[in-house]
Amino acid sequence: MAEPTAPSAAGDTDRTADVIVVGAGPAGSTAAAYLARAGLDVLLLEKSTFPRPKVCGDGFTPRGMKQIIDLGIDCSEANGWLHNRGLRVLGGGVSLELDWPDLASFPNFGAVRPRQDFDELLVRNAEKAGARLHEQTSVTEAITDERTGRVTGVRATIGKGKDKQALTFRAPLTLACDGVSARVALSLGMAKRDDRPMGVAVRRYYTSPRHNDDYLESHLELWDRSDPRSPKLLPGYGWIFGMGDGTSNVGLGILSTSRAFGSTDYRALLKSWLDGTPEEWGYRDENAVGTVGGAALPMGFNRTPHYRPGLLLVGDAGGMVNPFNGEGIAYAMESASIAAGCAIQSLARSGSAAEHALSGYPTAMRQALGSYYRIGNLFSRAIGNPTVMRLATRHGLPRKTLMAFLLKLLANLYDPKGGDSSDRVIHAMTRLTPSLE
Ligand SMILES: Cc1cc2nc3c(=O)[nH]c(=O)nc-3n(C[C@H](O)[C@H](O)[C@H](O)COP(=O)(O)OP(=O)(O)OC[C@H]3O[C@@H](n4cnc5c(N)ncnc54)[C@H](O)[C@@H]3O)c2cc1C
Repeated sequence: MAEPTAPSAAGDTDRTADVIVVGAGPAGSTAAAYLARAGLDVLLLEKSTFPRPKVCGDGFTPRGMKQIIDLGIDCSEANGWLHNRGLRVLGGGVSLELDWPDLASFPNFGAVRPRQDFDELLVRNAEKAGARLHEQTSVTEAITDERTGRVTGVRATIGKGKDKQALTFRAPLTLACDGVSARVALSLGMAKRDDRPMGVAVRRYYTSPRHNDDYLESHLELWDRSDPRSPKLLPGYGWIFGMGDGTSNVGLGILSTSRAFGSTDYRALLKSWLDGTPEEWGYRDENAVGTVGGAALPMGFNRTPHYRPGLLLVGDAGGMVNPFNGEGIAYAMESASIAAGCAIQSLARSGSAAEHALSGYPTAMRQALGSYYRIGNLFSRAIGNPTVMRLATRHGLPRKTLMAFLLKLLANLYDPKGGDSSDRVIHAMTRLTPSLE
């Protein structure tokens, strides 16, 4: 494992690079790997030390697996991935198993893998490509050129306690991949947009006989059955992902468009849902492994612009989570790959031509996801109403063809060219919808 650079040993060349990447989650490590492979000198600054835990559902759809395959990472079961073949959806008394679609653009399997493990795999991959990882390096703010306003580096503290030291790092380009906290963007006054959705999700691990499952499981109706005489419908959706190691990752999410958002005790909500699930599934306190963890899900481009001179916002920092299903890893990696492509082009040019390549990043993101996310933002507003959610579940779930279509739409899994009729409908919907700005 790479040692954090000792403050006294950190000379100027250690703190300058072609690109600074802040944060070594899926967005940062993916971008760093692509940039370093292109021969660029990359500093990857991360506040924690690997391996580190990360609150997540640990679930990957085929869209996430595609990104991992594109990076050249072995995603076979022999390499620690637990593959799945689709999504089981429960609600309105119906349980439906939907296989991932067979497409040209994406593999036909998803997977689960603990983030503690996955994030370390990705960061080692970036190091192998040549990125210089500095752990225990907490970025506090962006540095801007007083005259031009351009971002020219970052300030950070390294180390802990009395050994903590302030340092600056310099590069012509910084990629903010610092997750939902978005410290870099906030230091520049780039606040989150309140007209776009947010989610909050909590999860906990439990030892359970349901730890091996060929399907990711999604519960569209969460019932609080703690008082059997008056079961209550809870506002949100839940998941149960078997981890294959004796445990399940169980969690739930609530959208900011729901009336209960902000006033809900999420931990209590998780417990009341799980208390109503069958005893033999094991989702009770005595089988819990670790505590309940939670975090916000920044969705539907809820922080823009994604570019300002010298800086790109990537992954959660740019609000890249899919508003239809709360999936964020695939989109963090996808935006990282697009950002890296623009950065590589930019750094091979000078002056306004270099800037032109960077300004291509928000355009490319809008082309890739802008229309789809506009529809997703409307969808999240609609299902924030529990009545709409209940009606959709009651009338939609028993119709398998409709659900197979919805799986493609909600998980953004379709072939834009040469697919079947549902692919063509989704493609037409996104083509006819104007992109988000
Ligand atoms: C409960 C929950 C369940 C979820 N389940 C799923 C799921 O099953 N599947 C899925 O696809 N998505 C899921 N998500 C979303 C997913 O976790 C995120 O979208 C994804 O992690 C975003 O990746 P990122 O690299 O942009 O940010 P992050 O993964 O948050 O990485 C940011 C990195 O930056 C570092 N960092 C932060 N601030 C600083 C700083 N100031 N200086 C230096 N380093 C810094 C952090 O330590 C971290 O390593 C879930 C989220 C939650 C909260």
